[in-house]
Amino acid sequence: MKRGGLDHVVLDISHKPKAFITSHFPNIYERCLRFGFDMAREPIPVVPATHYTCGRIVTDLNARSDLDGLHAIGECAFTGLHGANRLASNSLLECMVVAHSAAQDLSNQLQRAVAAPATLPP
Ligand SMILES: Cc1cc2nc3c(=O)[nH]c(=O)nc-3n(C[C@H](O)[C@H](O)[C@H](O)COP(=O)(O)OP(=O)(O)OC[C@H]3O[C@@H](n4cnc5c(N)ncnc54)[C@H](O)[C@@H]3O)c2cc1C
Repeated sequence: MKRGGLDHVVLDISHKPKAFITSHFPNIYERCLRFGFDMAREPIPVVPATHYTCGRIVTDLNARSDLDGLHAIGECAFTGLHGANRLASNSLLECMVVAHSAAQDLSNQLQRAVAAPATLPP
């Protein structure tokens, strides 16, 4: 797209039977129709998007970073659970699993919490 200055490329699955397309991709089929594209009959315009980013805040599996009190969950975090080629559909799973362990960890910490210092270190 960059080389050719294109707005989009096309994805064509119209060689498959309509019944196959509507049963495998019912939501995408309906959404495309609303935009005026019948993917059972014609190619659809597509553009690439960032699907998942392994963030730069290194954490453990309780979402703890090496900065006391800073927890990170989701795409901003680098838990080590994902490599560069993460498996599909497991990023939301990571969000939930790490959020749960972080909540438990924070709940335990709260029981031992002391009042925050009046002045922040430089
Ligand atoms: C097209 C696509 C398909 C995907 N499909 C799947 C899939 O099938 N399965 C799967 O597991 N994962 C999938 N993912 C990945 C998954 O959606 C993300 O990894 C996940 O949503 C990340 O959650 P998050 O909370 O880290 O970030 P986000 O969901 O991006 O949440 C960040 C939130 O912070 C808000 N925000 C940003 N800046 C500020 C600011 N300055 N102040 C206040 N709020 C702010 C944003 O508005 C947003 O609501 C897909 C992603 C894309 C793009």
